[in-house]
Amino acid sequence: MISERIRELKPSATMEINRKSKEMQSRGLAVINLSVGEPDFDTPGPIKEYAIDSIREGFTKYTVEKGIPELRQEICLKLKRDNGLSYDPEQVVVSNGAKHSLFNLFLSIIEPGDEVIIPAPYWVSYPAMVSIAGGVPVFCRWNRDFKIDTEHLKSLVTPRTKALVLNSPSNPTGIVYLEKELQEIADILIRHGILCISDEVYEKIIYQGMKHVSIASLSPEMKKLTVVVNGVSKSFSMTGWRIGYIAAEKGIAAAVSKVQGQTTSAPCSISQKAAYYAMKHGDSLSASMMEEFSRRRDYLVNNLSEEFSYPVPMGAFYLFFNYRQMDSLVLAGRLLDEKLLAVVPGQDFGADRYVRISYATSMDNVKETVRRLNEIAGQGR
Ligand code: PMP
Repeated sequence: MISERIRELKPSATMEINRKSKEMQSRGLAVINLSVGEPDFDTPGPIKEYAIDSIREGFTKYTVEKGIPELRQEICLKLKRDNGLSYDPEQVVVSNGAKHSLFNLFLSIIEPGDEVIIPAPYWVSYPAMVSIAGGVPVFCRWNRDFKIDTEHLKSLVTPRTKALVLNSPSNPTGIVYLEKELQEIADILIRHGILCISDEVYEKIIYQGMKHVSIASLSPEMKKLTVVVNGVSKSFSMTGWRIGYIAAEKGIAAAVSKVQGQTTSAPCSISQKAAYYAMKHGDSLSASMMEEFSRRRDYLVNNLSEEFSYPVPMGAFYLFFNYRQMDSLVLAGRLLDEKLLAVVPGQDFGADRYVRISYATSMDNVKETVRRLNEIAGQGR
């Protein structure tokens, strides 16, 4: 009874690790779960208060399908302030998390058989969403810096190439693209008229004075070809509120809004109010969270044995490492069995010699993780 499209979706290897780590925890074993992709902080108090007030005021009905005007207006101000991008609120659609924004977008742009280039290592959901939408995910190799190998990218372009997914800062590697690297990619996309889906959800989690640059800001031509995807989950520790958005050319925004109107309608009214408040009062609310991520990142990078190799994370809250070229499933299994560390095998991210840990966990856990990992390295096997 199940459709071929869905039958062909690969179940995630992460599930097995999660299942096993839960089962071990229930047996009283001190498993440290490093597989979670969300900030471990509570949503800042004033955001919650504003949402509670909105409930009391009865803001509890359907809203306009693309999102309440004041939130879309605030998103436009943010895009201008942080990214130097001018959009009109009509070009913005708010959805149930950036994940939903991406899915609506893939459904809106993909014709059956269209190719979408996804640079590896990639966030697991991109290829799945492209496939569900009837497209074909095409994987691009990484270079020495774990960024797009532009020669390979050029060789992948065909008449069916519809879009490239770009994710900076990146899940799972934490790499951040520099402006000149984005320019090289933009030149290729403009030459062939390929859309860029620019997933910028980790924009605010960035280290050592690095500056996030949106590829859309490089030129008016590139802005036309870009769909900016962002949200409040990671920036304001609001994963459960489910608010994300896109900003794009009017035609694409209208299509995304149409898909949403016929499927889910607008996201939760209260969450939209909370997101409005978060974006308006913004970064001061989340500054201490960023400091803490930075401390944890520095601890990992400064104390982990050199036996582990990884791209130095400049953004997000992940470390993507390799140990003696071990297969990712074997390494993840061993870390769980021997060291009670639940990590995500890189196989799901298109990199089967790597595993991902998230340092969205307490500093004590980070220190204990480093200790256990260094023990493995010390044992030399
Ligand atoms: N993009 C990337 C790269 C992510 O890691 C995530 C969350 N794990 C999302 C998008 C989706 O975030 P949300 O739906 O919570 O906004």
